[in-house]
Amino acid sequence: MRIVLFGSRGQLGWELQRALAPLGQLTALSTDSRDWPADFRQPESLAQTVRGLRPDVVVNAAAYTAVDRAESEADLAYTINATAPGVLAREAAALGATLLHYSTDYVFDGSGDAPRGEDAPVAPINAYGRSKLAGEEAVRASGCRHLILRTSWVFAARGGNFAKTMLRLAAERDSLRVVADQIGAPTGAELLADVSAHALRTLEREPGLAGTYHVAAAGETSWHAYACRVIDGAAARGWPLKLASRDIQAIATRDYPTPAARPLNSRLDTTRFRRAFGLTLPPWQQGVDRMLAELLDD
Ligand code: NDP
Repeated sequence: MRIVLFGSRGQLGWELQRALAPLGQLTALSTDSRDWPADFRQPESLAQTVRGLRPDVVVNAAAYTAVDRAESEADLAYTINATAPGVLAREAAALGATLLHYSTDYVFDGSGDAPRGEDAPVAPINAYGRSKLAGEEAVRASGCRHLILRTSWVFAARGGNFAKTMLRLAAERDSLRVVADQIGAPTGAELLADVSAHALRTLEREPGLAGTYHVAAAGETSWHAYACRVIDGAAARGWPLKLASRDIQAIATRDYPTPAARPLNSRLDTTRFRRAFGLTLPPWQQGVDRMLAELLDD
């Protein structure tokens, strides 16, 4: 299997480099790759890469992920999250290749408190969510064989994320305020990359499984409870902190205004993915604790 991976230096892309390597011949590209165009700001240039490398599978881990900045850079977010994946999908369709693409629970409006299935109505409430939804739609409209995996609250030992921000702030400040009314499942890039590789293998045997799926770690939490787990884990390891989890104040989203509105309910129902691919999605705490061990243990 020949695989081309775009966005290989992000949280997920880094883990995909590891997880996809045993599947075949992997070419991992990032924005500044010299041999092949891989900058999503120039969507049409990506066609040259796909046509030149002629992969069996195109994996897109690149994305514009700065949710707040996307409000003032909506055109750029759209180019990277929608136009560029559309070009990859078109080229994959022309080659007969499979496209593995990632999306987000932010395609939903976050109302209610039930986990959403894949067919729930989409209604993004911020520019990032709209750009990601347009990317999904471009992939589906292309006619290429695809897997679109919608996930939530991605973290990894490598790269930037909420848990690492909490660790940094807890070393600098003696109190923190964190929102407690947004609910979701922190999902490790490691887990996401591993189940992606398994799903690609299964799809090779059963092409009828192509489609859109929800993939997130099991369980649910709030950003506040997630922050407390990270800080408790760091404290247990003797990490130097200026605060304990009891110093983290639970606040409401309305008391923490941000440029982009955030969905309150990020719960994703992953039943369809687990059944189709025969995989287990472990509890979110397992991945977070592993990340802490990786970051903080000797
Ligand atoms: P990161 O922000 O960690 O990584 C994004 C990647 O996109 C980086 O490799 C970056 O490259 C690349 N990228 C950004 N701009 C460009 C560009 N112009 N051209 C080429 N590459 C570019 O994201 P994650 O790994 O966390 O996200 C992976 C996927 O999961 C994305 O589709 C995202 O939308 C989705 N997702 C993420 C969530 C999260 O909480 N992070 C939640 C839900 C879904 P470089 O390093 O070279 O800048």
